[in-house]
Amino acid sequence: MFDQYKRIRIGELAVALESEGGDAAYISHAHSDHASYGKKAEKIICSEETAVLIGSSKERLNLENAKLLDAGHMLGSTQLSAQVEGGKFVYTGDFKLEAGITTKGAEMPKECDYLLIEGTYGEPGAVFPKREEVFAQMQKWVMQNKEKTIVFGAYETGKAQEMIGFLNKYCGVAPVVSKKIDDVCKIYGKFGVKLERVRAGTHEAEEMCMGGGFTAVLPVREANEGLCRKLSGVYGKEALCALATGWGYKRSFSAGKVFCLSDHADFNGIIEYVNGANPKKIYCTHGNEKTLARELRARGFDAAPLVKKEEGGVQTTLEMAPKGVAVQCSAQCGQR
Ligand SMILES: [Zn+2]
Ligand SMILES: [Zn+2]
Repeated sequence: MFDQYKRIRIGELAVALESEGGDAAYISHAHSDHASYGKKAEKIICSEETAVLIGSSKERLNLENAKLLDAGHMLGSTQLSAQVEGGKFVYTGDFKLEAGITTKGAEMPKECDYLLIEGTYGEPGAVFPKREEVFAQMQKWVMQNKEKTIVFGAYETGKAQEMIGFLNKYCGVAPVVSKKIDDVCKIYGKFGVKLERVRAGTHEAEEMCMGGGFTAVLPVREANEGLCRKLSGVYGKEALCALATGWGYKRSFSAGKVFCLSDHADFNGIIEYVNGANPKKIYCTHGNEKTLARELRARGFDAAPLVKKEEGGVQTTLEMAPKGVAVQCSAQCGQR
């Protein structure tokens, strides 16, 4: 299946799946832990949205024996479905089955013999409430605190836009957003996802802030108690901060309030996907790959974590190489 770690052959082409080397790199979406592999590659395979979001001018390949399926994770996120030796191969990238405000849900592949699946939340405890339920909780909280200043911390690409969409749709609020978040919103707009917001630093934003309580969507690193104290000092209104992240199910954060909103499938979503795709062989990657593979085996699937051999970089499964080193998903990943 893999001729090297995370590299497959599609026809004559060696395609690196968000890894190094190969004739072309497949980039599932614009988050940096995935997209960074597109920088070194000469040619890339990704959606047009992803190419624009990562600012890539590399040649974008359109393969005859491969297609991109929606992944439901953020604007332009895709799964790769390809004809390889021995059958149909699918790589999910980061995915989410439920539709969001700024995304459709992930498409279920019609045919899938070999599956490479992400396991960010691939452990049985990682179960989130339904998205609509989380939106309802957030709406209630925003409405209760409408007179105050509210700061939502969100990863700047993807999650921030979903939060702005939520505030527009559920609360009738156009939040103040950081410049970087606003720049990403402009790209969303070009692809038909309209988001009402006010760019920080503009006259309009300053007026909103001076006018009493306001709502803002800022990068996670900025949305903390320190900022809230500053904001209440400057604008004279109590300020609250909140974070929307899947990790809310088990970690605590310095932000005051945490809502369990994720752009990844939770454990049940992963199992639902695997049951739907019904592959002959499954490789797990990007997060809890060992736990997920064990859970899938317990459900009767032939599953193994995709690991890198310490030397040589040749892909093997855990069973074949007990000393294999799993490549961990960055800790930030789940915040998206
Ligand atoms: Zn991601
Ligand atoms: Zn990721």
